[in-house]
Amino acid sequence: MKRIAILGSTGSIGTTTLKVIERYRNEFALEAITAHNNIAGLKAQIERFKPLKVAVVDEAAGKRLISRSKLPCKAYLGIEGVNKIASDKDVDIVVIALSGAIALRPLLAAIAAGKHVALANKEALVMAGSIIMERLKESKARLIPVDSEQSAIFQCLEAYNRNELHRIHLTASGGSLYDVPLKNFKHLQVKAILNHPRWKMGKKITVDSSTLMNKGLEAIEARWLFDTDISKIKVLIHRQAVIHSMVEFVDGVVLAQLGVTDMTLPIQYALSYPRRLVNNNYRLDFLKLKSLTFEKADTRKFPCLDFAYQAAKDGGSAPCVMNAANEEAVSAFLDKRIPFIAIPRVIEKIMAMHKGIRNPDLSAILESDAWARQEAGRLMNNMGR
Ligand code: NDP
Ligand code: MG
Repeated sequence: MKRIAILGSTGSIGTTTLKVIERYRNEFALEAITAHNNIAGLKAQIERFKPLKVAVVDEAAGKRLISRSKLPCKAYLGIEGVNKIASDKDVDIVVIALSGAIALRPLLAAIAAGKHVALANKEALVMAGSIIMERLKESKARLIPVDSEQSAIFQCLEAYNRNELHRIHLTASGGSLYDVPLKNFKHLQVKAILNHPRWKMGKKITVDSSTLMNKGLEAIEARWLFDTDISKIKVLIHRQAVIHSMVEFVDGVVLAQLGVTDMTLPIQYALSYPRRLVNNNYRLDFLKLKSLTFEKADTRKFPCLDFAYQAAKDGGSAPCVMNAANEEAVSAFLDKRIPFIAIPRVIEKIMAMHKGIRNPDLSAILESDAWARQEAGRLMNNMGR
């Protein structure tokens, strides 16, 4: 029986992970869950899934949770509480379902503690991929990707020598703006963007999918996970989202991983790896698939994809700065402080202003992240005037 901690249990990946644990009660037990400030959601999860430990990052919200009800489990407050759970000796598998750069410290804590890490979060690898991969080498931890594309690549590469990899075809559904002409982008409201045609996800990643920044983040994520040059990672628009990604070997052979469009399967595999658990609910019906189509991404419409490739080529602190500027811009858009079309403008400006650091250590990464957020905030305040 594996004991699981879910960091970010109240989110989209977190709630799906809870369903997987519930379905395979003989395989998994829930040890701990964490949230930022959604204490109503957390309380309902405590009652239903009975974890032994919880952590709430927002301390005021955490104190409300503790004072309102007599908790049947141990409670920690603040990000330190999340780090503690990530390295808890009673936890075997740590699921990192936190959204954004906040996941970096807990991820490093889980790696240092030698855990089996099921990683959904992509921002941490984008900001500090080199540090994370180095620490992983020094520890007995293993990192199993949850993101559907990375899970697909991971599965396709599993039995093969990575030196024989020619390139990776990273598929993208195209997001909510595929059919919307560029000239209409200036009128786009939050509600329209949050209506993703294929995947039901958290707000930040849904906005990132609409700008294709999500694919850019994934390209950088894949670059680290599979230790390959960014030039070998090719984005393919594949509207049906049935092929979750493909790998092409030096001899021209291509392996693809296919499955229904549901995060349950990559989550389940990341938990049970290297085994597969029987699941009859997610069978692909080939006769219902009319066609599988592939197109090139339109980077004039979606410049964020180019920004990510540029940041990956620049290396060092560049991806961290790009990620921070993006997080700030997306959050401002969701709060209706900037229009949709300002998101790429903010990222481009902050990237241009940044004086890159070649081999940043952890403190240089955290400083670059803070610098980019501050400058992005200043820039967006001036935009409003
Ligand atoms: P959600 O926004 O749905 O959930 C985020 C979770 O993290 C919530 O539990 C939230 O708590 C918690 N959280 C947010 N901010 C903080 C913070 N500052 N401190 C501590 N906890 C915090 O995100 P998703 O589940 O959609 O995505 C999670 C990660 O997985 C992202 O990196 C995303 O890119 C990646 N991913 C998601 C996919 C999906 O299908 N959703 C697919 C592939 C990857 P609270 O509820 O209290 O705010
Ligand atoms: Mg993905």
